[in-house]
Amino acid sequence: NQRWILDRRPAGRVAAGDLRLEKQPVPELMPGQILIRNVYLSLDPSSRIWMSDEDQYMPPVEIGNVMRGLVYGIVEASASDRIEAGKLVSPAFGGWETYTIAEAAMTRVIQPSAGEALSDYAGVLGPTGITAWLGLREIGHPAAGETVVVSAAAGAVGSVACQIAKFDGCRVIAITGSDEKCAWLRDEAGVDGTINYRSEPIGGRLDALCPDGIDLAFENVGGEIMNEVFARLNDFGRMVVCGLISSYNLDGPAPGPSDFGRVLMRRLTIRGFIASDFRKQFPTALEELGALVQSGRLKTRTHIVDGLETAPDALNMLYSGENRGKLLLRISPE
Ligand code: NDP
Repeated sequence: NQRWILDRRPAGRVAAGDLRLEKQPVPELMPGQILIRNVYLSLDPSSRIWMSDEDQYMPPVEIGNVMRGLVYGIVEASASDRIEAGKLVSPAFGGWETYTIAEAAMTRVIQPSAGEALSDYAGVLGPTGITAWLGLREIGHPAAGETVVVSAAAGAVGSVACQIAKFDGCRVIAITGSDEKCAWLRDEAGVDGTINYRSEPIGGRLDALCPDGIDLAFENVGGEIMNEVFARLNDFGRMVVCGLISSYNLDGPAPGPSDFGRVLMRRLTIRGFIASDFRKQFPTALEELGALVQSGRLKTRTHIVDGLETAPDALNMLYSGENRGKLLLRISPE
């Protein structure tokens, strides 16, 4: 078994020496356990949060432990009568490793329908699709005719959020970091307007594209992008705080808007959420997402990088914006 060990807490982006790749024999299974050959490792912005010891929504990975990650793989051996060898599965949590030993009772069996791939279950039919759905259905409640702004809009969560808001009859403005991603959002995801925050003035473009202000913000980035959106929220506007990726490589608290008085004057609702708090809604989310994928209405992109040894560099792609869609590491063949 090859696995990445967290050796020290990164400063800034993950760098050489923060993690170490080691080889260990695969231990014997205990009763109730299964051995999973990992096919995909999900690389998520939160991976970097778990490497730090700042205040966060779950315990950080301890120094000297295997790096935590969501894995999707095939059962190679089973000491449980719940799940037999050969099944596609995803345990509650795995690691950055070639094999994961998991409790069968804590493991989900995946049965892709025709036209679905295992990789979809790590994205649109898994955590990131569910997150987009929850942010809108449980928190943001978009209404037809409203103006919705989504940041990190071309990513795994953002691209699904843009499209669900469009299906709901909203006018959707998408913020992202390249002309290629803007074109995809316009031509494939069908958004009404795009802003390339690297080459265009964010505030000026928001003024031009949202002449009647912003009703709902789906915030994935924080920092300057969030501030420009916040400053244009209408009376009774809502901001769904899904992520603050621009601050994950920083030390200290994420910067927030300086004009907090706007929350009062505009009677705003700002609400953060973590998808795993809404487990009861997962089946409803997956039903809607599954139907949208099956019908071909919901467009997604998956970005696959090969080889466990590339994991730290691949993770950094999320912070440089090199990923086009849901970022996955392929550890072994399907
Ligand atoms: P993405 O597929 O969106 O990849 C991350 C993207 O963020 C990059 O491609 C890049 O796109 C953008 N980005 C990175 N750094 C910056 C920056 N400094 N300024 C502006 N944009 C930046 O990842 P996910 O869809 O997995 O995650 C999106 C967000 O959702 C994250 O904030 C994540 O933490 C959050 N999340 C929250 C969950 C929850 O339960 N609340 C669950 C899952 C994810 P670009 O080219 O546009 O710059």
